[in-house]
Parts: sequence; structure tokens; C-alpha cells
Amino acid sequence: MEDSRRAGLVAVGVGRYLAAAALFTWVAGSAGLGHAAARIERIRSAAGKDYTRIVIDLSRKTSFGYATLPPDSRRGLPPRLYVDLRGVRLDRGRAGAVPISDARVQRVRTGQFSATTARVVVDLAVPVVAKVFALETPPRIVIDLTAAPQATPSRPVQEASRSRAAPKTAAHSPPATTAAPKVQPRKKQVAAIPRARKLRVVIDPGHGGKDPGARGPRGLAEKNAAFDIARRLRDKLARRLGVEVFMTRTDDRFVPLEKRKDFANRLDADLFVSIHANASKNRRLHGIETYYLKNTNDRATLRLAKLENGVDLLMKDEDVSTDADLPYILSDMVQGQKEADSILLAGHVQTGLVEHLRPRYRGVESLGVKQGPFLVLDGTYMPAVLVEVGFVTNSLEGRRLGASAYREAVAEGLYEGIKRYLEDDRVGQLR
Ligand SMILES: [Zn+2]
Repeated sequence: MEDSRRAGLVAVGVGRYLAAAALFTWVAGSAGLGHAAARIERIRSAAGKDYTRIVIDLSRKTSFGYATLPPDSRRGLPPRLYVDLRGVRLDRGRAGAVPISDARVQRVRTGQFSATTARVVVDLAVPVVAKVFALETPPRIVIDLTAAPQATPSRPVQEASRSRAAPKTAAHSPPATTAAPKVQPRKKQVAAIPRARKLRVVIDPGHGGKDPGARGPRGLAEKNAAFDIARRLRDKLARRLGVEVFMTRTDDRFVPLEKRKDFANRLDADLFVSIHANASKNRRLHGIETYYLKNTNDRATLRLAKLENGVDLLMKDEDVSTDADLPYILSDMVQGQKEADSILLAGHVQTGLVEHLRPRYRGVESLGVKQGPFLVLDGTYMPAVLVEVGFVTNSLEGRRLGASAYREAVAEGLYEGIKRYLEDDRVGQLR
């Protein structure tokens, strides 16, 4: 599999390492250096038309860091991304090149950077945007590479320095107070400097402030259940997957739907998950359903979408008829890859949630993955779903949604679904 050349890795040297240190991010793993060294079990890859995934399988969880390097013409090196793995020893003779090459990757090299740190270098064929994150069971580091976007007027492109600019406090601040990076069209195709950053997830707790959302007979407000579940989900994602998590609101306040999706777009987020609870005049109706954006003729869905979109439309235009057949007209933006990934995300979120709840609670019903014209999903650049975690109007589900143990279980199920989506190698490849 691997040839035995050292590929000049150690020669990268301390000077180069320090030069890159400003761009370097450590992501904490559980194991310290006191433990026996971890091993790289395998490096594998999967490539699609627009996307390459490189997976570093490890013998146990470790801390890792990553950075990018511009091309080095003096040494004949292309733009590179490297990942340093703390507490990892390469087996003797294992250092060298891994035969991975495709439209975005020239080759992958490994080397022992120091006594306690192994380095994996990806020699890039083109400028890329890299998303790096960790997954458990088995422990592994995932590097997702997509070609750096060309500057086009229709799709805002963040400046190269932007990925470092997201404030540390952003995960705890609502859009109103977060200095989210400004969207600025890039002037020119910058030199071939790749970009790497953590995966970003935006969680959107439905409603808030003057908009309580649906109300249960016992006075349970949808906005409060959604917010508590969102907060629990945020902590799980940040703690266990090492991804960056942002909330569209971090307290009980009204945030217009338009602002929520703008927030996610400005952050160049990778996933958008909107959390809601359902309501029906039929008190017996119960169950869990997950939506992705698409128009439909289903009357129940149109009623629901009208409820979820409602406050914003009334704010915009008092004349909007509440009896209109359609709550609003879907923008005709091209969905393409985003829709394929949204369907995949909706499927994982729905099954993750239902499969986590069923062994713990009786009568958990799956109403399935559905399509619907939800305003908050329309115009997001990233895969986006809206989950209805249950009916506040059903006596059993309403009572459960009012209990913190159930909301914790819902958050765990949502976490499981998002994790499965990130593990799914089909992401980015469906056409
Ligand atoms: Zn809602």
C-alpha cells in the first residue's frame, strides 16, 4: 500500500511549523500523552464529482490540529493541508506516501513530525476548502475537500481571512449581538492558498419572544421546548464532535426568519437544523416528522408551513391573505446538490431521533421525511432541515415535551442523526 520514501516530511522543519502556527487549531481529544502511543490504522478516501473525503482511522481518540500551506515553488511543493495527531507514533517503515490521488488530491504523505506527533500531509492539486472534524467508533479524523469556489456574483464568497475571524463567543450569542463575518464578494481569485476550518452547524430554535409558536393545552409554548432542546443539542455537538455550533437565538427573543437564514449564510455554515414542535386541532395526532425544502400539494403540510411562516409574513405585509392556498411562493433558486444532501440529512435526523426515543418511550410514531415550503429553509446555501419533534397539542406528547428528561432524549436523538449524516460517505456525491 505505502512506499517507503520519507517524502521529505520531517524536513518541513521547525521554522515552517512556527510560521504556520498562527493558523493552527488544536482540537482536544480525550487521551493525554501519558497513555501508550496511538496508531494510524489506515488512511482511506472516497471521491465524488465535487468532493473528496479523506479518513484517518486511529487506534484511539487523540487531539489533532490542522493548517494549510501555500505552494512552495523553491521546493516544488503544491498547496498543502496537514493534520497533526498528538500522541501518535507511526510504525517503523510506515511513514511515506499513501496512494490517494484524484481531481483535488495529488498524494497523501505521512511522517513522524516529533516524538509525540505524527503528521499527515495532503498535497493538493487545486485550491480547496477543507472541513476537518472528528468522529467516534471507530475513532477517526475526517477531512472533506471541495474545490474553492470561483468568484461569482450570485453566491457570496468569504474572504480567505474570514475563517479565522469568527469570534469565540459566537456560539453563545444571537445574530443581533454576534459580529458575524461580513459577506464581501471576493475581488479576484486569490493565489492558490487552501483554506481549512472546523465544520459549522447552525441550530435554529423555532420562534421566540413575542412569537410563542404553538401552544399546548397545559400552557407549554413551542418556543421554550425548542430552545431547551437546541441548547442541549449544541452542547453535545460541540463537546463530542469538535464542530463549531452557532444558535440563531440564545435567549427568549424574536428573530425574523430572514435573519436566521442570513446568519447561517454569513457564517458559511455546513448544516442548518431548525427545531420546532407541531400542533393540530386533532388532539389525537402525534408523532415526529422532518422536512426539507420543497413545494407540495399536501394540505396538512401547507397548513403547518403557514403556521411556521406566519408571523414573518404578517410583519412584512398586512395584506397577505391568511387564506391563501400557499403560505408564500418558493424562490426558484437552484437546489441541486443542496437538496440531495438535505434529503439525506432529513433521513438521518428522522431515524436518529425515532430510533433513540422508541426503546425509551412507548408509542413513539414516525410520520416520516416530508417536503414542505418552509420560509426559514428557503435561501440557505447549506443542507437544511426542519424537525417537528412532536405535537404540543397531544396530551401524551405535550406532557413529554414539557419534561426535561424527554427533551434531553430528543436532543440525543438529533445528535445521533447529525452524527450519522456526517459519517455518511454519500454526502456531497448524490446527483
Ligand atoms: Zn414552529
